[in-house]
Amino acid sequence: MSGMFFYFRSQRRWKPGQDPYKLYAFNQRESERISSNRVLRDTRHYRCTTLHYDPDLPSTSIVITFHNEARSTLLRTIRSVLNRTPVHLIHEIILVDDYSEDANDCLLLTKLPKVKCLRNDRREGLIRSRVRGADAAKAGVLTFLDSHCEVNKDWLPPLLQRIKEDPTCVVSPVIDIINMDTFAYVAASSDLRGGFDWSLHFKWEQLSAEQKARRADPTEPIKTPIIAGGLFVIDKSWFNHLGKYDTAMDIWGGENFEISFRVWMCGGSLEIIPCSRVGHVFRKKHPYIFPEGNANTYIKNTRRTAEVWMDEFRLFYYSARPAARGKSYGDIHGREELRKILKCKSFKWYLDNVYPELK
Ligand code: UDP
Ligand code: MN
Repeated sequence: MSGMFFYFRSQRRWKPGQDPYKLYAFNQRESERISSNRVLRDTRHYRCTTLHYDPDLPSTSIVITFHNEARSTLLRTIRSVLNRTPVHLIHEIILVDDYSEDANDCLLLTKLPKVKCLRNDRREGLIRSRVRGADAAKAGVLTFLDSHCEVNKDWLPPLLQRIKEDPTCVVSPVIDIINMDTFAYVAASSDLRGGFDWSLHFKWEQLSAEQKARRADPTEPIKTPIIAGGLFVIDKSWFNHLGKYDTAMDIWGGENFEISFRVWMCGGSLEIIPCSRVGHVFRKKHPYIFPEGNANTYIKNTRRTAEVWMDEFRLFYYSARPAARGKSYGDIHGREELRKILKCKSFKWYLDNVYPELK
């Protein structure tokens, strides 16, 4: 097995002058230098270590989609999961290879325990790829991860515990930062939640003094208006009941708004669980091609979200993003129908009750 790890990881010798950022927009050379098995500092609040979880938590199918991921980061993602998750909680790890150049990236990894590989026969984007993984999943709970993560100690039980208590809850870990230059693993603040502006641009927001004061216990979940989108756990029947994802969305972006509005407005809630920590490599740009262009794709996906979910408040979106006016966004009848069938609340309700801070 260790031979396989070495073979899978070492792609080539680095020559002076070669650009280690060229393929993946992070420092590939540094990632290759670091063990796929490395030890991480436990970044949780010390009170987290005193918590206990049910011995009979449900198991989960972990879905990881990727398009041309570096082998070193993809392997480290999977090994961190295998190393730091109680084995009975992982039903399977489903890799969805979104038409990467080298089909072996995915296939070779099926030598690892629990790992399955599905390969798209054309580029679908992360939204349709995740739905494909979710449809294939056999466990009752779905866990989505990006292909360049490292899970930290005890990351999964607190997430599954919350789903077990309330299956309408959709939960995210605190997302620690894996530095894209050095691959140092850095603790993120656990006083953050997801927010956005009217252009539907995601941002992390510091909890207000009042919100902090209301949280006497640092291990308590944090309600969040929106999730970052890449890393979360959801009950599979709840995911299906709520209409999975909007599969007319392409490549990347906007789907976190759509699923967040939908979850809140249709009877669920979103939480960040501070005692669960997962690192993610945050980059400054996408290394891959958007066939329709980056901006056009983001506009199409967010415009679909605004049209289906934001009611009259979509006008604020168009004011903040004038370029979206007149851009085509496809057919939304199916999603409008879904909103009616699920009897979802209005966007005004969402603003009043979930995100009154958005002015
Ligand atoms: N991804 C994919 N197909 C695509 C674009 C992205 O499967 O067409 C995957 C990508 O490999 C990653 C995840 O979707 O695992 C999220 O993409 P990325 O990390 O680029 O987004 P970010 O984390 O920067 O928002
Ligand atoms: Mn990512």
